[in-house]
Amino acid sequence: MNVADRATAGFRQRYGVEPAGRWAAPGRVNLIGEHTDYNDGFVLPFALPLRTVVAAAPAPGGRWTVWSELDDEPVEFGAAEADEPGRVDGWAAYVAGVVWALRADGHDVPGARLAVASDVPVGSGLSSSAAIESAVLAALVDLGGLDLPAGRWPRLAQRAENDYVGAPTGIMDQSAVIRGRAGHALFLDCRTEEVEQIPFDLDGAGLAVLVIDSRAPHRHADGEYAARRRSCEQAAATLGVTALRDVPVADLDAALARLGDDETRRRVRHVVTENQRVLDTVALLRAGRVRDTGPLLTASHASMRDDFEITVPEIDTAVEAALSAGAYGARMTGGGFGGCVLALVDAGAADAVAAAVTEAYAERGFTAPGTLTVQPSGGATRLG
Ligand code: ADP
Ligand code: MG
Repeated sequence: MNVADRATAGFRQRYGVEPAGRWAAPGRVNLIGEHTDYNDGFVLPFALPLRTVVAAAPAPGGRWTVWSELDDEPVEFGAAEADEPGRVDGWAAYVAGVVWALRADGHDVPGARLAVASDVPVGSGLSSSAAIESAVLAALVDLGGLDLPAGRWPRLAQRAENDYVGAPTGIMDQSAVIRGRAGHALFLDCRTEEVEQIPFDLDGAGLAVLVIDSRAPHRHADGEYAARRRSCEQAAATLGVTALRDVPVADLDAALARLGDDETRRRVRHVVTENQRVLDTVALLRAGRVRDTGPLLTASHASMRDDFEITVPEIDTAVEAALSAGAYGARMTGGGFGGCVLALVDAGAADAVAAAVTEAYAERGFTAPGTLTVQPSGGATRLG
């Protein structure tokens, strides 16, 4: 059964009636621009064909009941729980957080019954969290006829995750998931929150992106993330700039000379060069030179591995194996210490590259990776 039908079937089975509608939101990957978001820099994510679907209907009494196929037990909550971040915990916090964010923004959110099904792998770095938030948001906005232009959705979904769930994330995931467009990547300036759709026509170029789930256990990812962030903030303060975004690549050497220790210099070099790589990738895509972005992806990976030091052996193995098997470029995508790798490949070679990565994993005794070929797809939407 496809994901939309699973959401509908789950709704019927759980609530004994038909849903009023179904709303979908995709996962995402970041093509390039890693750890640039909290440095006020640039990112270039795109939405995946994998989606989370919410079947929903209004419910009387101003309460919310949500069921997910990931958990047998539905969770029910009312306004009192929704209005107090932390009261609803576990996975349903992502749903309660959306109700909270909408109410905090002054909206009269209708009580609802919801059933969630998803093809987005959970916790792999493909943003199943933004997918569930955004699908729920779309459902509640429609069911309640709320006056909330789509331009404001990413910020509200982000607030649900930051302030209700308590996960400190930037605006990238929700922006990509809500605003993604088929055949395009989303160029996002994390300082101004301006977005621009950049043509990313893999199909037309005979190319595909292979996404490889490293299946590496996340090792100390939270602490390491906080340490990188601190390092960047301290370096910006030392350099007298608001954020590392304000260091142009032409001034990099002069900036590095003003920093005290080698580790900080490497962290700064990653962020400054990574911002430039995003700009260079956008320029190539605008010129229709999709294949030529490969070396930028690979350079991004080397920078994450050697300067930002956020990769792990499974991730480096996947990148090396993909490149050896003919990928035009490959890099880790996401915060690091696990998660996914993406490789730019000829569409006809995707299976062979995936097989080469799987073989390299077997040789090293790693848990077999997950592989998936994707094209940039559309964002959150109501299904017919
Ligand atoms: P990622 O966004 O990379 O997949 P996160 O840790 O940010 O990983 O978010 C994963 C969490 O989001 C899950 O642990 C769960 O709480 C929630 N979640 C995502 N998708 C679903 C779903 N379909 N049903 C229930 N909870 C979900
Ligand atoms: Mg997430």
